[in-house]
Amino acid sequence: MLHTPNHDYRILDAQGAAGYLAAHPALAAHLGGTPEDWTCRDVADGNLNSVFLIDGPQGGLCVKQALPYVRVFGEGWPMDINRARFEHAYASRVAPHVGTLAPRIHHFDETQFITVMEKLEPHIILRSALLAGQRLPRAATDVAEYVARTAFHTSNLAVPFERKLTDTGVFSGNIALQRITVDLVFTDPYIENPRNRALSPHLNLWAASLREDSALKADVARHRLSYLCKAQSLLHGDLHTGSVMATLDDTRIIDGEFALVGPTGFDTGTFIAHYVVAWFARSAQGGSPQDTASFRAALADDILTFWNVFATRFIHIWQEWDVENDGTPRSHFTSDTDRQALDAFRRSHVDDILVDTVAFMGVEIIRRIIGFAQLADFHMISDEAVRAKAMAGALSFARSVLLHLERFGDIRALLDALTEHDGAHPDDPQTTRSV
Ligand code: ADP
Ligand code: MG
Repeated sequence: MLHTPNHDYRILDAQGAAGYLAAHPALAAHLGGTPEDWTCRDVADGNLNSVFLIDGPQGGLCVKQALPYVRVFGEGWPMDINRARFEHAYASRVAPHVGTLAPRIHHFDETQFITVMEKLEPHIILRSALLAGQRLPRAATDVAEYVARTAFHTSNLAVPFERKLTDTGVFSGNIALQRITVDLVFTDPYIENPRNRALSPHLNLWAASLREDSALKADVARHRLSYLCKAQSLLHGDLHTGSVMATLDDTRIIDGEFALVGPTGFDTGTFIAHYVVAWFARSAQGGSPQDTASFRAALADDILTFWNVFATRFIHIWQEWDVENDGTPRSHFTSDTDRQALDAFRRSHVDDILVDTVAFMGVEIIRRIIGFAQLADFHMISDEAVRAKAMAGALSFARSVLLHLERFGDIRALLDALTEHDGAHPDDPQTTRSV
């Protein structure tokens, strides 16, 4: 039996979504005309929630509703519906800092777990663009700006600790989705678990070698603990290329339902991981060698830009911030020498975020290949052996990076390592172990 959160809760279909807007005059006014003039599309391509786009003569809106289960699995996988509240709390908390880098939220319904927001069109999901070989040149820069602003302004570097702890309190309630992350990202890929869906039997040896890699599991334990304990800033918590909608000149970050207060590098690392996956999958997606090489160069460039913009903007926002906070109290940094020391600390703080970024990137790549939530980047490669080879390259890269984090204090070293692992062999996970 379906456990609905309250007696009034009703699951919307497309028509119901239009009816919902019609019943709220302020929302209906965005669309114009009468409900008979409206069209409604079901566009839920995510795994979890219902999403409808409703268009009227004057404009459109997006209606997102959380269900008490995972949408793609139906009632067999119950899922806390309060995720909609956390997604809304996250959007509200970051809204003052991100401007138009996120869709405008018009309405949240606590009983129906419905968010009504700005409809993004002609925006497309960044992953779909990359899969189609299309570059959205602003995306990496804009996402970097978004993370720099959200990370800084929700950290102890910007706000008194009372505010930070209030945020931590609010988002520590997002237990169900943090459990998903702990299990699917950090735990399942390193054990035998029926949820793991390695896409190819060619990768069985790889999956076994990860399960037996004690050093790797100890490293992953360190990063899992960091995810659980290192309360640096408010995170989006699921910042992959499927959570970004963009055009050539506009970028929006959506879908913050996994929000938590955690290590800043989790957001930056997750984002980079999906560019790395796109890089490895590219060679097997059927383009000419020249096309592959130039698209890969562009992806590597985007990774570099993303990190450099994040680092530069984070430091710049920090330097400009002249508000008392508990991380770096103004009274400690008054003389020129104080300020030089503070600048050095700023750089080393961002260097530390890079170490976390690279670590979480590695963990995210592994879980997207061995774990439950697979990616279209590899899925679209029909030849199993070719697909396994591309996946083995990404696994080899991720494992090597995790085992040798000290080598990646510079983002360029990470990009150099991409090509070293391109030829990794699916049948022999050991050969690449010490690269
Ligand atoms: P889920 O949490 O279920 O993954 P998402 O928030 O990722 O849901 O949305 C699922 C899909 O709905 C997106 O991939 C995108 O295609 C579409 N979508 C989501 N928000 C909007 C929006 N504001 N405007 C237009 N389309 C949207
Ligand atoms: Mg989602």
